[in-house]
Amino acid sequence: MALIVQKFGGTSVGTVERIEQVAEKVKRFREAGDDIVVVVSAMSGETNRLIDLAKQIMPQPNPRELDVMVSTGEQVTIGMLAMALIKRGVPAVSYTGGQVRILTDSAFNKARILSIDDQRIRTDLKEGRVVVVAGFQGVDDQGNITTLGRGGSDTTGVALAAALKADECQIYTDVDGVYTTDPRVVPHARRLEKITFEEMLEMASLGSKVLQIRSVEFAGKYNVPLRVLHSFKEGPGTLITLDDEESMEQPIISGIAFNRDEAKLTIRGVPDTPGVAFKILGPISAANIEVDMIVQNVSNDNTTDFTFTVHRNDYQNALDVLKQTADAMSAREASGDTKIAKVSIVGVGMRSHAGVASRMFEALAKESINIQMISTSEIKVSVVIEEKYLELAVRALHTAFELDAPARVSE
Ligand code: ASP
Ligand code: MG
Repeated sequence: MALIVQKFGGTSVGTVERIEQVAEKVKRFREAGDDIVVVVSAMSGETNRLIDLAKQIMPQPNPRELDVMVSTGEQVTIGMLAMALIKRGVPAVSYTGGQVRILTDSAFNKARILSIDDQRIRTDLKEGRVVVVAGFQGVDDQGNITTLGRGGSDTTGVALAAALKADECQIYTDVDGVYTTDPRVVPHARRLEKITFEEMLEMASLGSKVLQIRSVEFAGKYNVPLRVLHSFKEGPGTLITLDDEESMEQPIISGIAFNRDEAKLTIRGVPDTPGVAFKILGPISAANIEVDMIVQNVSNDNTTDFTFTVHRNDYQNALDVLKQTADAMSAREASGDTKIAKVSIVGVGMRSHAGVASRMFEALAKESINIQMISTSEIKVSVVIEEKYLELAVRALHTAFELDAPARVSE
């Protein structure tokens, strides 16, 4: 008998009918003998609706009161699902985050979980009840309602699985697993059977939005096996676990991630002296702008060029700051480009294989795609290219690293 935490996202509980379907699914697991804790999101669109209501009162909503409002979305769905289970003869009970006592810090709208009291849940499970818990929320030590940030129900699911030492945390969503890349860009992308926490973190942070990043960090830290599955289609989904060095047949690359969220800034002709990087990036970080990739050129005339990327939302701000720096340093010019995209190959198999980066560059060269910036880590190589070549690049890399699904033959 296993203890399983199942999390259902907003689209999976988006209508009464779907909640009934979720109840059917939970019932089947329960009847197979497993202990089940279910975490649910608000009905799809509900959190946005509540935030919008708040903004009609106060354009910059008071953070504490916003949490009082947005936490109600999940309170509705836990009650509905518990009723749908009870109606089917499955004993069930629902709890808000505060009722469980998911204790968080007091950072309203982006709170972090500090501890979870598992007493109440354990007692219910022992007495044969399915426990339905509201995702996305907790309570601070003063009893204030807090929420965990958008997509936070994933984190609730994983945190509960960690606290209960569950056998698996299943994340049910509207895709049937984690893919080698976005199937909208590469139609023959493949569902991965397995991926490591580390790889999933890279994929997620690079724009594959299946799971909240924090939930993956959490799962890795506490070694909670995570499985992403489709809510209403049968299938094994994708298992996210620790790197299992025993399994030999590791592909070199597990997936291709990409995003269009960044913009590039360049400052040219700055004196190549100690402290330049600090002089350029200090004011950027003082303006609370996060920098991702950084490249500094070698100099030949004692001046150098310096290029970095920021989130596109920060582009105009960053450019204004950089122009001031350029004036102060008598640099030649400060300029920028928002029409870029970042493409990355991700895989733990890279550690044991040489020449992975050059294979990537070769594939891009064959398509005459110019690489503007490069960065590498142990399990990832990222390049910045012109945005208009993004899809071509992803497809070329998907093929070059043999990720394409075999063509289906029909008889
Ligand atoms: N309902 C919250 C949101 O939309 C939390 C979640 O769905 O994970 O962000
Ligand atoms: Mg979600």
